[in-house]
Amino acid sequence: MSFSTEVKNELCSVSMSRACCTRAEAYGALLHASVFSHKEIRLSAENAVVVRRLQALLQRAFFVDSEAESCGRKQQLIINDPPRIGRIFDALGYDRKNHITYHLNRNVLEEDCCIAAFLRGAFLMAGTVAGPDKKSHLELKSTHQSLTGEETSLMLDLGLAPKQARRASAQLLYFKDSASVEDFLTRIGAPHAAMELMQAKVEKNLRNTINRQVNCETANLVKAADASARQIAAIKSVLREGGEEAFPDNLRETVRLRLSYPTDSLTELARRFDPPISKPGLSHRLKKITEFAAKEN
Ligand SMILES: [Zn+2]
Repeated sequence: MSFSTEVKNELCSVSMSRACCTRAEAYGALLHASVFSHKEIRLSAENAVVVRRLQALLQRAFFVDSEAESCGRKQQLIINDPPRIGRIFDALGYDRKNHITYHLNRNVLEEDCCIAAFLRGAFLMAGTVAGPDKKSHLELKSTHQSLTGEETSLMLDLGLAPKQARRASAQLLYFKDSASVEDFLTRIGAPHAAMELMQAKVEKNLRNTINRQVNCETANLVKAADASARQIAAIKSVLREGGEEAFPDNLRETVRLRLSYPTDSLTELARRFDPPISKPGLSHRLKKITEFAAKEN
């Protein structure tokens, strides 16, 4: 199941207890219908859960019954008789004879709850959202520039600022930043889906942090091993020429310990001295050894 489908299924489980919101949700769906005119209303969707939701919305908001008809992979609700269309137009404050319906009647969307419900209906018909494994993206498709503008202002009322784009003949409203996508989903009634996105983001950040730390530690280990190898090579070149006596007295213990414990870090090696010495102290002695070897060769 795609993440969009998962989100829509969650949206379809939102309660229809408030009449104002049920009407607003139906309105959002109608404005994104395949056809919404005074002659015909045609709502189509692939997801059977969404189709049942649309039927329930039409029933509760306008007392309009509708039958689903199969049309390829989609199912359609077609309403083409004046009495049913009339009931819907009356409830939304449209003139029954006027076919220009792609204009928003804000009178039925006064409350924030209704605006959110309207956007839920719109998203059910025309929305898609990328899943937690993908880059953040949520979009709402429309075919009318004026509707896109009016929906932008509805979203702004809820504190959401969508971007606009055009793809072929379609107008798009979209969000790319994950916080807005999560906000939008929460507002329209899909808090679980929003949580899923949030969790995936947290896990991804955590994984990146761990990887950075591991990489950094690995780099340090490699650096330490390289340094130890260089010190040992220097020591051996001096030993070949003159034996341990060639080293000044104060460096001999360092020479012995370095050769005995080639994989020790500076901290570990410093602790092996009797008495233990400091890490900077050891570092200083090792530097002296490599300088001494360079001078001798
Ligand atoms: Zn409401």
